[in-house]
Amino acid sequence: MPDHPDKTPQWVAIAPHIKEVVELAAVGLVDERDKCYPVEAVGILCLSGEVFPLINQARSPKRFEVNQKLVSEGINALLERGRNPIAVYHSHPEAAAEPSDRDQMLMKQNEGTLHVIIGNDGIAVWMWDGWLRLVTKIPLPKPVPDGEHT
Ligand SMILES: [Zn+2]
Repeated sequence: MPDHPDKTPQWVAIAPHIKEVVELAAVGLVDERDKCYPVEAVGILCLSGEVFPLINQARSPKRFEVNQKLVSEGINALLERGRNPIAVYHSHPEAAAEPSDRDQMLMKQNEGTLHVIIGNDGIAVWMWDGWLRLVTKIPLPKPVPDGEHT
């Protein structure tokens, strides 16, 4: 692993706390995954552990697409309400919490942004800051129902 560049990106401030935030948010994140099943859920995670869902315009179980204007408006609305948006989340309804090629491309375009992936093997936080990093990973808060969605 190469040395970390000599700079202090914004995420460094939040990174030591992200695991606590994700643990706090875990039930809410899994809830969003299940509500959107089989489509990928996507949204914004706040420092408080609150989750704010966005619409996955791809309506796909394999990828997500969000309107950038709506994302910016959502973030501004959260800031106005005194919330601290800290990460983008999305679900992998039938796959591990590892970023797809497309996810990695999005991470590179949004360098330094924390990306939470709710997979079928846990909840992982990833980011790109010159290379792909697994910031933290926690187990799912409860067993995954095996396709038993009504
Ligand atoms: Zn993904």
